[in-house]
Amino acid sequence: MSTTSKWQVSDAAHHLHPFTDHGALAAKGTRVITRAEGIYLYDSDGNKILDGMSGLWCVNLGYGRQELIEAAHKQMQELPYYNSFFQCTTPPAIELAELLSDIAPSHINHVFFTSSGSEANDTVIRLARYYWACQGKPEKKTIISRWNGYHGSTIGGASLGGMKPMHGQGDLPIPGICHINQPYWFGEGYTEDSTAFGVRVAQELEQKILELGEDKVAAFIAEPIQGAGGVIIPPDSYWPEINRICKKYDILVVSDEVICGFGRTGQWFGSDYYGVKADLMPIAKGLSSGYMPIGGVLVSDRVSQALKQSGEDFNHGYTYSGHPTAAAVAVATLKVMHSEDLVTRVRDELTPYYAQAFGSLADHPLVGEVRTTGLLGAIELMQDKASHSFFAEKGAAGNCCRDFSIANGLVMRGVGSTMITCPPLVITKSEIDLLVERARKTLDDTAAQLL
Ligand code: PMP
Repeated sequence: MSTTSKWQVSDAAHHLHPFTDHGALAAKGTRVITRAEGIYLYDSDGNKILDGMSGLWCVNLGYGRQELIEAAHKQMQELPYYNSFFQCTTPPAIELAELLSDIAPSHINHVFFTSSGSEANDTVIRLARYYWACQGKPEKKTIISRWNGYHGSTIGGASLGGMKPMHGQGDLPIPGICHINQPYWFGEGYTEDSTAFGVRVAQELEQKILELGEDKVAAFIAEPIQGAGGVIIPPDSYWPEINRICKKYDILVVSDEVICGFGRTGQWFGSDYYGVKADLMPIAKGLSSGYMPIGGVLVSDRVSQALKQSGEDFNHGYTYSGHPTAAAVAVATLKVMHSEDLVTRVRDELTPYYAQAFGSLADHPLVGEVRTTGLLGAIELMQDKASHSFFAEKGAAGNCCRDFSIANGLVMRGVGSTMITCPPLVITKSEIDLLVERARKTLDDTAAQLL
């Protein structure tokens, strides 16, 4: 039996994977990724695969970065762990909090640390409700979110998210969370002018606030660009209208920056890209380039003042909040981003290059739309692009394309029949060309099978 087969058998026997049909996986066998360098993954059969998804939207600096490895090694020798409860803190947590305050908009100067994006969003629920309780408005506690948004997989995160298959398993959402439609113009508004569509779906927020009563609504949460939902880039008219509505009814704005944060759009945060003034910003993933599990919530002065003046404990926190080794790796990540001026490079060099190179796939007979912002990209696969007809089984089309993509040496992910990419921010222009070349070959192979 080959090493790969042995690993597959053992994995099937003992390992339960996230978001997986375990029967199907055991029959198919897992792909064992054994090492990685730069933007390439290597599997246990020796295949070299371009990682067009930065792991799971996180390895922004690519693999094998010595600065990050050394930061972890040094911190583990000095102080691998200590908590930030009971009046304690650690130097990496302090340094990271300061660095984050420097890159955050000027009205954000605090961070509450977690180990993941899901924990960050659970923290958002606690913080938003506690904030209003501190203002003497404990009834102002409903959080409005969006269908097909993704905010994590804990009970709180999955409730905030608008993924119906997740809600269906386990009686979600929890009370006090409700959803409005997403600004998915290509999928849900194609016959309308996109600007008008953006305003119309944003105004669903106003209708929902009026229906619930503004004194009952604590916050609105959204990803600046939906990631897991299929890289859904809202029309430019969407966020200004959301801003207007939240201001009018005094609703906290929560910008989920778990994917869009740390340079992905060519700005430090997705909210910077859209000019959104957020009260809370959950972060994770790119914060440590995925090298260590760390996340947090960036907290505006408005909310942090309330915590500081409450005169009591905010009864929330995690064993690993501010974990020193994870924080040290995040500090190293941000230092690399500064020293390589990576956000500017993404904005000025890579954004236009990716838009042009990846956008060139729009001429393919299988492709209804290609959209990009920064280094996020999506391709809409169509049964018949002339009549705007989607495949009857969207998921099967996406999976078919994804499998060809891997066979062609490129990780792309399928969300329904939308193929998505999120390459590392350190990708070079010639590597972008290679990504696009493999994506085109993948579309040809998929078209040969499906059309
Ligand atoms: N928010 C967003 C926008 C995400 O994309 C994700 C993860 N894909 C999460 C939250 C949850 O993060 P985690 O998986 O680290 O819990």
